[in-house]
Amino acid sequence: MRRQRGQRRMNAKTPLIIASHNCQGLLDAAARLARGAAPVDAVELAVRRTEDNPDDHTVGYSGWPNLLGEVECDAAIMDGRTLRSGAVGALRGFRNPITVARRVMERLVHVLLVGEGAARFAEEMECEPREMLSPEARQAWQERLRDKLGLADPVQVRSVADLARLGRWAVDPEKAGGTVTCIARAADGNLAVGVSTSGFAWKYPGRLGDSPVIGAGSYADNRYGAAACTGFGEWTLSTSAARSVVLYMKTGLSVRQAVAEAMRDLHDVDIKMTGVVNVIAMDADGDHFGATTEGPTTNRQYLRATPDDPRPQTNPMASMPPPPDSRAARALAAPDD
Ligand code: ASP
Repeated sequence: MRRQRGQRRMNAKTPLIIASHNCQGLLDAAARLARGAAPVDAVELAVRRTEDNPDDHTVGYSGWPNLLGEVECDAAIMDGRTLRSGAVGALRGFRNPITVARRVMERLVHVLLVGEGAARFAEEMECEPREMLSPEARQAWQERLRDKLGLADPVQVRSVADLARLGRWAVDPEKAGGTVTCIARAADGNLAVGVSTSGFAWKYPGRLGDSPVIGAGSYADNRYGAAACTGFGEWTLSTSAARSVVLYMKTGLSVRQAVAEAMRDLHDVDIKMTGVVNVIAMDADGDHFGATTEGPTTNRQYLRATPDDPRPQTNPMASMPPPPDSRAARALAAPDD
């Protein structure tokens, strides 16, 4: 079902946003689009609101920390009009990683800053500093160290020699339902995408997933469409999943077919699995689709909002699990070593 390029849908002029189920501020972002704001503004607004949500332990403030009790945030933003992008990885101590990512896009010749360099840049850009470890997240981390590792005093973890062994217990926040993704399309057809996450809970310090990597966790190109991923970042990193979806749309596939094809690529990967992958995508005309590697009983959903909606609408994600004979299915079934 290839659509001829240039065959615009009737509603292609309505501003539209799709996002992961936990995204906040979508109606405000859609209203801003309706007033003529650029899609990067809409995406940044919605992602910032999600980063500020203390009840979301997978994004921004109150995110679950790494093994050492540090909240390391990753974020990326891409403008589909220019193909410019900016990202930060393992950023500590700043309230809105998505805004730092946007500043990288706008102020630097670089695309990705990590760790101390990212923090230094955030300070130079006068981004708001914040202690990102909430009391609740600190308590959960301490309980984790005590119950799983027998470390009554969390300070002890700093002197553990084989932290790599402990890193095996990192948890994909998608199991708790997290990481925010957002794709906005303005009435003029401009697209933007944004992602933000605190990554895997109890991860090895410095671990980056797909979220700060343009092409793996997100991608936007006005000519064809945009895509964003949540879930097991090592998996989508292996196939450049978001860019793949957009490339498949470039070949003329519908958004649904493009996502299905990118999912098939994921099914071919032999990697130690600890989670699922969820993809949301929109084509250049505003057709959208979401899918998950979870099985048919999945109840995963993504959000959609236009300026006319009284509240964000939910859309079910299609189930696209690895077929039993695929490398991914075999890796999933393999016992832990
Ligand atoms: N993709 C994110 C990561 O790998 C986590 C998630 O979306 O659940 O860090």
